[in-house]
Amino acid sequence: MKADVMSIKSPIKSVVIAGGGTAGWMAAAALSRMLDSSEVDITLVESEAIGTVGVGEATIPNIATFNKMLGIEERDFMANTHATIKYGIEFVGWTKDGESYFHPFGTHGRDMMGMSFHQFWRKMHALGKASRIETYSATAMAAKQGKACLPSRDRNSLMSTLAHAYQFDAGRYAAFLRKYSENNGVTRVEGKITNVDVNSESGFIETLLLDNGKTLSGEFFIDCTGFRALLTEKVMETSFRDWSHWLPCNSALAVGSEKLPDSPPYTRATAREAGWQWQIPLQHRTGNGHVYCSDFMSDQLADEILLKTLASAPLASPKQLRFTTGQREKMWTKNCLALGLSGGFLEPLESTSIYLIQAGISRLLALFPDTGFNATEIDEYNKLMDLEFAQVRDFLILHYVANERRGEPFWDYVRNMSIPDSLKRKIDLFKGRGRYFRYDGDLFTETSWIAVFLGQNIVPEGYNPLVDSLPEKEVENRLNAMRAELAQAVPQMPEHDVFLSRYCPAP
Ligand code: FAD
Repeated sequence: MKADVMSIKSPIKSVVIAGGGTAGWMAAAALSRMLDSSEVDITLVESEAIGTVGVGEATIPNIATFNKMLGIEERDFMANTHATIKYGIEFVGWTKDGESYFHPFGTHGRDMMGMSFHQFWRKMHALGKASRIETYSATAMAAKQGKACLPSRDRNSLMSTLAHAYQFDAGRYAAFLRKYSENNGVTRVEGKITNVDVNSESGFIETLLLDNGKTLSGEFFIDCTGFRALLTEKVMETSFRDWSHWLPCNSALAVGSEKLPDSPPYTRATAREAGWQWQIPLQHRTGNGHVYCSDFMSDQLADEILLKTLASAPLASPKQLRFTTGQREKMWTKNCLALGLSGGFLEPLESTSIYLIQAGISRLLALFPDTGFNATEIDEYNKLMDLEFAQVRDFLILHYVANERRGEPFWDYVRNMSIPDSLKRKIDLFKGRGRYFRYDGDLFTETSWIAVFLGQNIVPEGYNPLVDSLPEKEVENRLNAMRAELAQAVPQMPEHDVFLSRYCPAP
């Protein structure tokens, strides 16, 4: 399996991963793929008694890159994790009740003369000659019609712009990666970490002590113990950067329900009185959850709202989760790296947590301590992860701050709160001439930002004047041709459930 990969040479001979949720097994799989197992021991310890957080079902398209790096086939992955296609997110009621919009992963329409499609769309929409922007997106149209297929290979076709992520069973993904990692030589140890030995001079972690008497010594420790942050917080005493003044939701109730008759190929996020509710269709069931702020809503009311609004019968009682939005001041301290929930949490509004694990792993591989621990490299890792978290944070805040749900205390608070300067700048730029610039490797593309700006009713005052260099009639014809192409091609796609049953049926 590893024959085609050049392994990283490492003076570190033992890596210990504490925790076996999605983060732990993603780390184990990636390291076992990239390190030479004859030279480096990789051990993962997890506790069945403690279990995992048990949520985390929706993703963004980047996860395909991670699976590809592991050499995992899409069909195999989807079948084993009971995955569905996710074309994006439908936001219901985020401006006000009765309104909704779609954030698609594939682009809107086609750029013209090297300029973004939305600039032309803005001009024609103001003239009453263009429909909503999502009607020019193959991805959004396929989603809303419940269709799914792979993107066309014909670059001239708008159907080549189809882009998807997945909705999957996180427990099955961890089990799938566990098998992969064990096949690659990772040792799994069952037990609960009860104590940690630290070198009194260097402050480096040396050994984990388990409740069953076992000890695990190592040179490099990856803390994947979830919200407990056992090594990062309790041993390294790394403080937490609290962002709950910007993202005040601090609670969630999650429950599985029966499979929907026609699984929509997208996630739905519906605004509620003091937060929002997710619906994530999988091949065998539906994931649901209510994210809310306990300062504005009681747990009991949150539970009632969730159960009352499910689209299919619940399979259990809702599970309560608590969290604080934010991140560690330092993800990497000495010989301990925080990955997954131990490193921070941003609510699942744009399904970014698993991506942030992936980003942490890819940065670790890029900065692997192959000449020993180096302060500059560790600092670089921390800077890069700070940037990733801050960019996602800003994108999430945008959904809240631009609401029009007046008279509801939670929504009034988030509409009037002060926001980070970095986001304010983006909003101001867009409000003028619809300008958006992607820099510093921002995770979300122009399509994503435009979808949420416009979806949240932030409409630019004007458009880039260069748009006028293309005759109005010509722009109108091109826009009409795009819609006509989609009106012809999308209905011919298979229904989502039919596509899944052919492409990747669950075993
Ligand atoms: P966990 O799953 O909690 O795993 C922790 C591991 O550490 C477990 O194996 C546990 O047994 C072990 N452990 C802990 N303490 C000890 C100990 N003392 N000894 C031994 N082992 C120990 N992400 C997305 O990308 N998309 C989503 O749609 C999404 N939805 C979410 C919804 C909610 C409400 C929440 C809270 C999170 C959501 N996430 C989502 C985030 C996602 O669930 C996590 O990023 C992901 O599951 C990784 O979790 P983890 O592995 O860090 O922690």
